[in-house]
Amino acid sequence: MKVLIVDDSPDDISVIQARLAKENLEIFFAEDGVSGIKETKSLKPDLILLDIDMPGMTGFDVCQILKQDGELSSIPIIFLTSSNSTEDKVKGLDLGAVDYISKPFDHFELRARVRAALRTKHMQDLLTKYAQIDPLTELYNRRALMERLENEWARIHRNQGSFAFIMADVDNFKDINDSYGHVVGDEVLVKIGKTLKQECRESDFVARFGGEEFAVLCHDTNIKGAVKLAEKYREVLGNIRINETTEKLQITLSFGISDTIACKSLEDLIRKADHALYEAKTIGRDRIIAAE
Ligand SMILES: [Mg+2]
Repeated sequence: MKVLIVDDSPDDISVIQARLAKENLEIFFAEDGVSGIKETKSLKPDLILLDIDMPGMTGFDVCQILKQDGELSSIPIIFLTSSNSTEDKVKGLDLGAVDYISKPFDHFELRARVRAALRTKHMQDLLTKYAQIDPLTELYNRRALMERLENEWARIHRNQGSFAFIMADVDNFKDINDSYGHVVGDEVLVKIGKTLKQECRESDFVARFGGEEFAVLCHDTNIKGAVKLAEKYREVLGNIRINETTEKLQITLSFGISDTIACKSLEDLIRKADHALYEAKTIGRDRIIAAE
């Protein structure tokens, strides 16, 4: 795990580095608030040890800025304080720090507090991860997909570019469940998830949209490119076999595709892919329809 020390005293930085040397951590440092924020943005450390008393931008200022940044606000901060004033400690904790350590450092305390903060961070990371994963298919869930779509939408409007959105729905899934049982139905979904993950490009984002519906966010791709990808998916998914008892089971999916080029909003993008998917279903399933 990565720890960033922000302190204007090189001596204090050396002391902390020496104390944490055996903890199997990657340690980075910055000697003022401005570079501390810069380093935080590029490193995304798991913990920041932040000196309160620094010339220019104080530790309190740095903490306030980091806590307002959605991407950085969850990084735990431990304040380093040479004052024994309760007021400083309370202020630091109120600003969102998880802990404080008093200078001069007691090295057992320093290590114990760092370890405790990193344990909590690790648990928090696991919870965040599981909150984004669909437990059956182990693909990203709809919440994670929506978050990624929002980020991508913002990114292409900052930097230009486009992306495509594929929605895929298993045909006659209810019949599969009715004929073979829900265990096989689940296996079908798992297998489709695995196959999509294998077949997609590394940069693409595959998710279970819900029920028997899947979605792929295709970065830097237009509708034409996405149709090609969906053709490949359709072909490979059509060859999925579950086990001997389901040999006759032929799995097909219908696909609806849209891209950001002709869309005014994210809702528009999803709606268009959904309409195209609906059209594919109505026309006779097992096909790909691109939005106009
Ligand atoms: Mg200082």
